[in-house]
Amino acid sequence: MSRPEYPHTVTADLPGLSFDAARAIFQDQAKAGHLAVVDDNDRAFVLNPDHGLIGIERTATGLQAIAAAEDDRWMFIMKNAVVVQMKKTQPDLAAALRWSDADDTGAVPPTFTFVTVQSVEPLGQAFLRVVLKGDDFSAYGRESIHFRLVQPAKDGPPSWPTLAPNGSVKWPDGDNAPHKPVYTARAIDPVAGTLTVDIYLHEGGKTIAWAREVMAGDQTRARLGIMGPIGGGLLDDDAVILAADETGLPAAARILENLPAHATGQLLVETDAGQGADYPLNVPDGVRVTWLSRDAGDTLGRAMMDAMATPHKTAVWFAGERGQAAKVREFAKDAGWNPKELRVNGFWKA
Ligand SMILES: Cc1cc2nc3c(=O)[nH]c(=O)nc-3n(C[C@H](O)[C@H](O)[C@H](O)COP(=O)(O)OP(=O)(O)OC[C@H]3O[C@@H](n4cnc5c(N)ncnc54)[C@H](O)[C@@H]3O)c2cc1C
Repeated sequence: MSRPEYPHTVTADLPGLSFDAARAIFQDQAKAGHLAVVDDNDRAFVLNPDHGLIGIERTATGLQAIAAAEDDRWMFIMKNAVVVQMKKTQPDLAAALRWSDADDTGAVPPTFTFVTVQSVEPLGQAFLRVVLKGDDFSAYGRESIHFRLVQPAKDGPPSWPTLAPNGSVKWPDGDNAPHKPVYTARAIDPVAGTLTVDIYLHEGGKTIAWAREVMAGDQTRARLGIMGPIGGGLLDDDAVILAADETGLPAAARILENLPAHATGQLLVETDAGQGADYPLNVPDGVRVTWLSRDAGDTLGRAMMDAMATPHKTAVWFAGERGQAAKVREFAKDAGWNPKELRVNGFWKA
């Protein structure tokens, strides 16, 4: 396979690591992430995640890691991916890694954006709609629509993620650590410079407590950050099976309104109150919606498995509780679905 070109490439020496050991590390990554291998020979092993390259290459004197990307943002994501993967089996080497480009240690990562809250309002009975204002939300287009909502600790000076010397992200820890759950960019308005996020009102949520403080007028809580993109994006398919609980509804809503108008298939939704969730959805005529009330605990997972009983040509997308997602993935594997074509994700942990 030919290697795609990217304008920027950086390298980092890997002293003391054999080619075979390094290759095994990246081979695991390729397998786990279903990533394309674009070089596999006795000099190099290179993977092609979206928007870049990561891998290893022999040099005249040893071995180096490589990362290539189209811009700073993606370069940071590639370098971070190398460090995170190496850390699993070579933690000392991962910590000591130094890249050949400028050292930005201590700066906020290029994927971090400061935002302020423009408004917080109830959306039906089960959600709060938060509109954030910021400089650039272009990263949350078709290919990736999720981010970390980085909420500083309530007491003490706000603290933010920074770049570590090895190019990975360093999150503040201890009492001053921010809370950073993952949310979905439900809508982007590039003209107004806003990003809309819909927050499900579940028991005990720290983000809901934060949003209510802002609603009550606490301006000190209205400045925060988002970091991303992370996770998947929209679907281009003509035939779909989608399943979501409340946490997946904002993403499902955005996917649905961007499907081709002639798309067919079904949307399964599990909520506390069944249809009563009154979350606004714009569904193509050919997509049937089934509302399920949460009862025995794995309602959504079971409905999804019924819909997937026989493998067929359709996009599969599931967003719900993590344990249910794992069961759906296992079922899909046994039933013969191609794992590369499944988007089955745990959105929260019971
Ligand atoms: C890719 C992705 C996209 C997501 N998009 C959205 C989104 O757009 N809107 C949204 O509301 N959520 C979304 N989520 C889910 C959200 O990240 C989690 O629900 C997260 O735990 C919320 O953080 P918190 O601060 O409210 O609660 P936390 O402080 O993290 O958790 C507090 C307690 O609440 C429990 N909890 C968390 N979620 C639920 C739930 N759904 N039902 C019952 N108990 C729960 C936890 O188990 C924990 O005990 C998304 C998750 C992922 C991975």
